[in-house]
Amino acid sequence: LLQLSVPLNFIGMLYREIRQGLIDIEQMFDLLSVRPEVEDAADAVPLAVDKGEIVFRDVHFAYDPARPILKGISFTVPAGKTVAVVGPSGAGKSTISRLLYRFYDVQQGVISVDGQDLRQVTQASLRAAIGMVPQDTVLFNDTIAYNIRYGRPDASDTEVETAADIAQVGRAIRDLPQGFNTLVGERGLKLSGGEKQRVAIARTVLKAPPILILDEATSALDTTTEQEIQTALDLVSKNRTTLVIAHRLSTVINADQIIVLRAGEIAERGTHAELLAQNGLYASMWNRQREATEAEEHLRQVRESD
Ligand code: ADP
Ligand code: MG
Repeated sequence: LLQLSVPLNFIGMLYREIRQGLIDIEQMFDLLSVRPEVEDAADAVPLAVDKGEIVFRDVHFAYDPARPILKGISFTVPAGKTVAVVGPSGAGKSTISRLLYRFYDVQQGVISVDGQDLRQVTQASLRAAIGMVPQDTVLFNDTIAYNIRYGRPDASDTEVETAADIAQVGRAIRDLPQGFNTLVGERGLKLSGGEKQRVAIARTVLKAPPILILDEATSALDTTTEQEIQTALDLVSKNRTTLVIAHRLSTVINADQIIVLRAGEIAERGTHAELLAQNGLYASMWNRQREATEAEEHLRQVRESD
């Protein structure tokens, strides 16, 4: 009985949130892969976002008590700034973004936004303040315009098109015979991963949240697509408090601070230049990625000259 009632309650909760338009479809998929561990406190109040400063103070977290994942993480994302989290796979990077979105509660320490402990605010208000651009965007079987407008249902056609332009996908959409009325998704036009990600960025541009979480695509994108996405992300994160979970170090060069996570602890922190000068873990990751990129480039040139 217990096993059955938990998922049913959870689906009920999801249904209410979707009906209230509080969560995006991709967030629903994120939620579905995560158990509902968190409930609003009886006296929870709406988050009042002032400037959007995020503070993690001595955060400890484990999915399974026997295996600590985050072991005392402290950092601040000042209002309007960008902090990038990098590090080896399994280090706990995505866990940091899940905790900020409050899929789980910390087991020790505090996460706060503008001084308010996440455990004391309503989840709906927290999630309304955060825009999440996930690794894999799921599109609705509907038009491109619908998929973008989902970020803010009352947006005008012009606002939808401007958002697409900021997300560097407007021109590609206008080149389609049906333009913004093109059907996409399972039963429509299949968009590439990079195009879907830019549609998600356009959605977020319309939502205009004070706080952004970007979980970068791990899949290798070609250089042009990567640059277009980077331009889009730079535009949308400008003057917004932004937490970037980064896989490609080339995208974090301009972050105000880079946090290097290793086995649940902050191994290094600083700007790109400061971390290179330290000649530690970040510098070795940087050199390895650069060598890989150069090898790819070389291979491409060899192929082209054949
Ligand atoms: P990263 O994003 O740095 O690759 P994650 O934060 O996703 O790492 O995961 C950190 C560790 O936590 C990994 O060892 C992963 O296997 C484990 N983990 C992630 N999600 C769960 C979960 N829902 N239940 C149990 N363990 C998990
Ligand atoms: Mg991850």
